[in-house]
Parts: sequence; structure tokens; C-alpha cells
Amino acid sequence: MPVRLNRRALLKYAGATFVLLAGPVAGAFAADGSLLALRVWPAEEYTRITFESRHKLIFKHLLLKDPERLVVDMEGVDLESVLLNLFGKVLADDPYIKLIRAGQNRPEVVRLVVELKAEINPQVFTIDPAGEYGHRLVIDLYPTVPVDPLLALIQKSSPMDAAAGDGTPDAATATATPDATPAPAGRAAARRAATPANRPKASRLFTVALDPGHGGEDPGAVGRRGSREKDVTLSIARRLKRKIDETPGMRAMLTRDGDYFVPLAQRVTRARRVQADLFVSVHADAFVRPEARGSSVFVLSEKGASSSAARWLAQRENGSDLIGGVNLAKQDSHLARTLLDLSQAATINDSIKLGRAVLAALGGINTLHKGSVEQAGFAVLKAPDIPSILVETAFISNPEEEARLNDNAYQEKMADAILRGIRRYFDDNPPMPRAPVARAG
Ligand SMILES: [Zn+2]
Repeated sequence: MPVRLNRRALLKYAGATFVLLAGPVAGAFAADGSLLALRVWPAEEYTRITFESRHKLIFKHLLLKDPERLVVDMEGVDLESVLLNLFGKVLADDPYIKLIRAGQNRPEVVRLVVELKAEINPQVFTIDPAGEYGHRLVIDLYPTVPVDPLLALIQKSSPMDAAAGDGTPDAATATATPDATPAPAGRAAARRAATPANRPKASRLFTVALDPGHGGEDPGAVGRRGSREKDVTLSIARRLKRKIDETPGMRAMLTRDGDYFVPLAQRVTRARRVQADLFVSVHADAFVRPEARGSSVFVLSEKGASSSAARWLAQRENGSDLIGGVNLAKQDSHLARTLLDLSQAATINDSIKLGRAVLAALGGINTLHKGSVEQAGFAVLKAPDIPSILVETAFISNPEEEARLNDNAYQEKMADAILRGIRRYFDDNPPMPRAPVARAG
């Protein structure tokens, strides 16, 4: 629908008001200054606005108070194109944006004024072309108090922690055994030390971090009929979360619960923040040959990939940060170093056990792409203290499997199978009590 935009026009779209500021409309940039796309990704965690263009946009930004607003001046972009692209993009229920105004500030500068619903911490940065995308200017609006993944779990953990116990003093107080330390490697080591005879019963909730692959700017693999990996993985992970939460003694958290981008290192950090016992990343990948099919399970390798296909897949999955749009200036290098410094050898053994259990369960509902757990350098599996697996549920590039991945009943079966594998691992490796210091929150 072509929209004729007049100067000083005031337009109201579905909850979002959007005002064209006074100023001369510049036509000079229409040729190369037109945007390729403008996307808004609203989420509780943060709202992202992405401008995609053929050229790198030069920008300046400024945060103003009373009322809270973010001003972004952009060079090399055509105003009319910004206005047309903004049409209907801001939703009334956006957690952070009240409205967006755009106007010609100076002949070559388009000024964007984002009126905010609350105080925010902005991150404005550019991303070089990656994947299918051209140059991007990204405006991330974070709350000043970050959303805490622990909060979502507290409601369930308080009553259930008590309920999960079997009445023994050990379960009620969850004090640590003398040799149990809150250090990351302590839990896995303590778990291995338990022989079948002296193995303790589960004395606290077993927490599973579920990681729906991709999201937001990063669609993941796309099937021939247009299904996007990010939607399929979120849907399966949500079903799996429900099933885990219904299982006595277990609870789950999602590293993302919506269609927005979460950097790979953040996913790991979140799982560690809730002291997850397991990390399960859910994917549905693609291969150039449409006949490739079947489920597979991967774990981290510190020494190189178990096959060239596994290495290729890890490279693709690790590219998620470039396509999804990570702010390189804000990358936590301290965290990256800490994660690399800690030995992961012990955890990898547990990851393989978990991987085998899940792969066996998947074999009951789908062809297996490969009969054994594979290893490669997946960035998302790098928590040094949490057994972690990446499940390729099926090939979204295979037309038959794409259809099944979109089928509700099949998604349920897939979630059931992964849960069976997790429970099998849980039965063999019940969670150890934690040191009191680790139970805060
Ligand atoms: Zn993937």
C-alpha cells in the first residue's frame, strides 16, 4: 500500500504514534539512502531496532531525560524510506518503546527520536554484512535493571525444593558434604564418586537449561517451504520445558522465550546463573543435499571435531553471533577467558553420557543421522561445569522432516524423547546437595 507522507503529518498506527518532524525532505539520498529493511524485535529482555542498508550508516546517539528518550542521528539514509519502513513496526505492547519519530534534522542527517516507556541502557552499533544481510545499524534498548533468569525460577524452587526432598535431614537442609565445594568442578566430581550402593537420592531440584537455537535477526536454517529453525526450536523447547516442569524433582529454564537474539556466550552465562545441572541446546539444521535426514546429538570437543561434518556444523552454529548481530564492543572477554581457562574434560564425559541417553531415546522416534554422539567446538556448549549437549532434532532442509517438524504431535514426540533421555541420565546421576552458599536465591 503506497503511503503519501506529507511534512508535519501526524500518523497513528496500531498503538504507535509516529510524527514527522518539520524540515526539508531530502530527495538526494533516495537512490542509495533507501533502507533495505527496518525490523523491530520487542522482548522483555530488550527491544532491538535494526536498520538494514546498502551502505554503512554513520550515527551519533544521545540519551535524554524528562521524558526519557533516545535520539539517534543517522547519515546517509533517506527520510521517506525510514518513514515507510517504520509503518506499523512498533507495537503498542512493546516493553520499552512508546513511539518513534523521525525527521530531517539537517540536509544529510535523519533524526530518530525513540520515546521510551522506561529508563533504558542503550547500545547503538553497526554490523558489517553477514549471511543474507547487508549493513546493519542496531539500536538495543536494555532495561537499567537486567532481567534476571533466576527470578523466573524462584517461584517454583521455593515450594518444590522442600517437596522434592524425601524427609531425610540431608534433603531438608541440603547441607554440603565435607568434600563438596561450591567450585564448578565439584559437582561433577562428586557425582562420579557416587557408586550405585552409596548413591544418594535426589535431594534438590534438578535444573535443566533449555536453549532454543537462534532467534530474532538470526533465523537459523530455513526449510524449502519457508519454516525457520528459530521457530521450530522455540516451539519444541517450550513443550519440553512444560514436560520437565511437570516431572517431580525437575524444573527447566529457557535461555530465550521469544523471537529475539541472544548471543551464544549469554546463553551459557544464563545457564550458569541458575546453576543448571544440564544444558540442552535444541536445533533443526540443514544440509545442501535435501535427502540428508535424521536426528543427531553433539557435545563439545576440546581436541578437534570427530568428523568433518561435525566441524562444518559447529562453524555454522558458531556463526549465529555474526548473523544475529552481537555487539562486538561489549563482548565480555573476561568471561570468555574464564570459560576457556577451566578444564572441561570431566564435564565432557558427563555430556557424552547425557548425549548417549538422549540419542538412544531419539532413535525410538526418528532415523538417526549418525549412531553415535559426535564432537566439535560448539561455542554454546562451553560451560565448564554443566554437562551440555546440542540436539539436531531433524533436518529442516529435508522436505519430509520439515513437514514433521511443523507438526504439533511430532513436536510433542520429539520433546518426550528428549525428556526420556534426560530422565535416564538423571536416574543414573542424581543431583548432589549443594553447599549452602550456592543456594542463595
Ligand atoms: Zn541451528
